[in-house]
Amino acid sequence: MINVSNVSKTYQQEKLKVIALRNINFNIEKGEIFGLIGPDGAGKSTLIRILTSLILADEGEVIIDGKNVVTEYQHIRQHAGYMPGKFSLYQDLSVEENLEFFAAIFNTTIQQNYHLIKDIYQQLEPFKERKAGALSGGMKQKLALCCALIHKPRVLFLDEPTTGVDAVSRKEFWIMLKRLKAQGITILVSTPYMDEAALCDRVGLIQNGKILAVDSPSNITAGFPDVIYALKSEDTKSLLKDAREFNGIISCEPFGEYNHVVCKKDGFNETSFMEYLRSKNHSGLQFEKIEPSIEDCFIYLMNQN
Ligand code: ADP
Ligand code: MG
Repeated sequence: MINVSNVSKTYQQEKLKVIALRNINFNIEKGEIFGLIGPDGAGKSTLIRILTSLILADEGEVIIDGKNVVTEYQHIRQHAGYMPGKFSLYQDLSVEENLEFFAAIFNTTIQQNYHLIKDIYQQLEPFKERKAGALSGGMKQKLALCCALIHKPRVLFLDEPTTGVDAVSRKEFWIMLKRLKAQGITILVSTPYMDEAALCDRVGLIQNGKILAVDSPSNITAGFPDVIYALKSEDTKSLLKDAREFNGIISCEPFGEYNHVVCKKDGFNETSFMEYLRSKNHSGLQFEKIEPSIEDCFIYLMNQN
């Protein structure tokens, strides 16, 4: 459904050149939920703007549903839905007026494609007279999704739809995406939240304009070559320092209330590590082998690149 080949983009910031995208390549199959995952400044919005024909790449080619985004952009715009990162609705129009407006610019009506947005819009309907600017973050997000869907796109581009949205709304949002997928819509969604990777069919990890990996979340974690432990004691600060000095430890980084200790598969001895930490007077030690998370893999891949 989406073919991205050799896409590069550089911005000129006054006298400085900023490379936003470096030779990006990947494909997205029809009906997939594809997550573009990376931190602020990674290049996610730039890539989505190129894919939606809003800006031009310096190099490379993008084909969506068999059409070239540069030469056949009118077709793309007709068949793609786009929800930009920043709230894009008309704040002083009501909920209903916003939706009517987006339907009108695509030569359609709310009634015509109501089935697509019904589940989502029903939650907004009690507030349909309310100005969009007065909605909560979660409701704005739902309205923006309805507006991106009202012309029945085949492919949907969502730029950080869950950023700054509360945990419950985030969860609901992903349920809505699964329903859209079930209707055959291909979805590219960007997010800085690594834990959302598990909700995608496949993900592209992006950092500093470069794709680090493209695969299913389970293949990415299965490809992690080392072993990870979660480690905790009463004195986190000295624990970090001491653990890092132990032979065979690749890295030790804080991770929520634990530290993630990465070591090679061979040449690391759990028992002598524990004895070593006790000899350094650490008490309340908790130490357990864990499965690598997408974030662990991201850090690993980042250090490889
Ligand atoms: P993300 O969406 O992942 O946060 P962006 O695509 O917005 O990343 O930005 C990638 C890089 O390009 C950043 O270094 C950013 O500062 C730069 N950038 C983005 N948009 C522009 C622009 N219009 N002009 C100049 N630099 C830009
Ligand atoms: Mg962005």
